[in-house]
Order: sequence, then C-alpha cells, then structure tokens
Amino acid sequence: MNAMMRTDNRVSRDGFLQVFNHLPVADLLHRAESATDVDVVRSLARPVRTLEDFAVLISDAANRTLENLCLQSMQLTQQRFGQVIRLFAPLYLSNECINNCRYCGFSRDNPILRLTLNVDEVVQEGRMLHDQGFRNILLVSGEHPKFVSNGYMEECIRKLRAFIPSISLEIGPMETQDYMPLVSAGSEGLVVYQETYDRTVYQEMHTSGPKKRL
Ligand code: SF4
Repeated sequence: MNAMMRTDNRVSRDGFLQVFNHLPVADLLHRAESATDVDVVRSLARPVRTLEDFAVLISDAANRTLENLCLQSMQLTQQRFGQVIRLFAPLYLSNECINNCRYCGFSRDNPILRLTLNVDEVVQEGRMLHDQGFRNILLVSGEHPKFVSNGYMEECIRKLRAFIPSISLEIGPMETQDYMPLVSAGSEGLVVYQETYDRTVYQEMHTSGPKKRL
C-alpha cells in the first residue's frame, strides 16, 4: 500500500476507525460462506459493487469462476493504472526496533547484530542502486526513537534526492507534524502495512512495544 502523505493522519485514522468499527463483519462473513454460483454471476455483472458483492466475490463459490474474476481484475487495473509496473528497491537504514512482533526478525528481543547505517553509507548504498538502474527507493527501518531520529531521516532523504527522483518511506508510524520535514526534504510516499484487522490476532502477534497499542 502506498499512501501519499497529504492528509492529516489523525483525522484519517479516526475516520477509518469509525468506518471499520461499523463494518458488519459477521454478516459479510456469513454472506461469503453462503454465496452460490448465481450470486457470483450477479455480483460480477454489477457495474458498481457493494461490500456484499465483495463478500460474494471472495467466497468459495467465486473460486469456481476464477478466470472471470482475473479478467475483470485485469481490466480494472489497466483502466486505472495503464500497463505500468512501478519497481522500487528497498534500502535498509536500521534494524533497531523497540517492538516485538512475532513474525519479524527485527524484533527487539531477537539476539541479532544491530546496525544503523550512517548517512554516508546510505548515500553509498543509494548510488549502488542508482547504478543498477533504480530510480525509486524505499527507505526502510525498524521503529526506534533513538537511532532513526534527530534529523537523520531528513538528511538521508535530502542527500539521496540529489540523484534519486522518487523516495518513499517504510518507517515507524509518526504524527502528522513529524512527517512534514520528511516531505519537505523530498520524500513523496509512505508505505504502511496493516498485518491484520482482527484485534485478537493483532494482540497475539504484537507482544510488546508501542505497536501493541490498538
Ligand atoms: S515494528 Fe516493524 S521492524 Fe519492528 S519488530 Fe515489528 S514488524 Fe519488525
């Protein structure tokens, strides 16, 4: 997911939460479980689809008409994006992290060698990627207030922007005002992964650190 940093993230998050909290998840699940072949044909034929159609189209019944789904999906993708593939290269800045996430090797309690590149090393890595033809770089780091802070990100972005035209970020979540200097420095995108929308599973997967907060 690549979200441009142009909205107030607090408003967006609250807005999203409001919508999410009112989703009839149990009903949609039931709809997916009870969908028939006829329902799938009907949902596929609708010019504008609802959430209920979505539930029908991810049902077991829809599995039986996968070719049709793929065709429509391809048409929609081409309609919106054309025949374009955007390639990016991740550049890992730091594997320091204050969280423990059960699926991630950067987890705080994992006994691994911890490393944060200095700005010169970041530029050197960026140049190597540039020499290989990459013009779109994703700066990746764990979540740690001590290592990826105090102007470090801005400096990395500013130095890379001298020769990399497109820079996105995959870093710990911040408040809107904290993103502003990064946008000013030349970053144009933000990648955020939401590993699960199931609150129970979320708690099980995130065992400690600020990320555990729902
Ligand atoms: S917050 Fe991100 S980097 Fe840190 S442990 Fe979790 S998934 Fe890994």
